[in-house]
Amino acid sequence: AKDFGKNSHRFFSPQSYESEFGRLLLENDLRRAVNRQDFSLHYQPQVDLQGGRVVGVEALARWEHQTLGNISPDQFIPLAEDIGVMAPLGEWVLRTACEHHLACSSSGCQPVRYAVNLSPTQLHSGNLVPWIFSVLEETGLDPNFLELEITEGALLKNSKATVAAFNTLHAEGVRIAIDDFGTGYSSLAYLSQFPISKLKIDKTFTSAVTTDEKSAAISRAIISLAHSLDMRVMAEGVETREQLDYLRDLECDEIQGYLVSCPLPANETMQFLARHSLS
Ligand code: C2E
Ligand code: CA
Ligand code: CA
Ligand code: CA
Repeated sequence: AKDFGKNSHRFFSPQSYESEFGRLLLENDLRRAVNRQDFSLHYQPQVDLQGGRVVGVEALARWEHQTLGNISPDQFIPLAEDIGVMAPLGEWVLRTACEHHLACSSSGCQPVRYAVNLSPTQLHSGNLVPWIFSVLEETGLDPNFLELEITEGALLKNSKATVAAFNTLHAEGVRIAIDDFGTGYSSLAYLSQFPISKLKIDKTFTSAVTTDEKSAAISRAIISLAHSLDMRVMAEGVETREQLDYLRDLECDEIQGYLVSCPLPANETMQFLARHSLS
């Protein structure tokens, strides 16, 4: 292809924001969607390898655009951060997840932990603790059923305020999990500074655990690191029985992935939990 200079990769395409115009349209649509709370949550089950029980679900945001169809959260979450609407979107996510938990429990399901993703701006907003507790209070969810998933990168800015916020949340029973563990480029120092309950092994390692010795070695190291720090460890993106068996041998505590279930819409999640929580 002919080189048109450094902007040669830019072209009009409403489906991506490769072009300024496409991005502008998507920004407007996203703003409107946030105002109208025009999103849904899917929930992906998390299983304990010891007892084989469903112990939690992870809430994952979904946005169905009127003309473009489903847009991946890997696209619209960073965009929401960029244009400053992550706070209301994140609040909607937490509130909706709490409400779903309560609807499930009151329909007779064994209550399980709900994991909610927090983006870096939510973490550094300054009023993290008050808004989380106000949503918990308004919805009536017991904080022990809430887990917050945070990426390593978000903890690079290791402010005293964040440590204090996490300590407060932890003291009330809210758990903190480190998402995509092993893919950030941070030091390990933060592991000793924050009250972290769980490491989630990123799916790049999980998916290669039975085929690539290095991925297996990294997974083994993460599991032993977690256990020696008294944390639990979960493998994300488990797709095959072989991966499950391998991870069980490594004494990984929990798994999440298509092998158990893909993320499910709210009503199917309730049915799934009803089927799998017969006590
Ligand atoms: P994540 O937190 O690492 O979520 C796991 C992603 O892996 C999800 O993609 C899930 O559908 C996918 N996944 C689950 N099991 C498997 C598997 O077995 N194989 C493969 N290949 N993939 C699997 P999804 O739902 O597209 O979300 C992408 C990312 O968007 C999430 O990654 C998270 O970083 C972000 N995200 C989603 N919802 C929210 C939200 O409410 N708030 C924030 N801050 N971020 C969110
Ligand atoms: Ca996550
Ligand atoms: Ca992850
Ligand atoms: Ca991810």
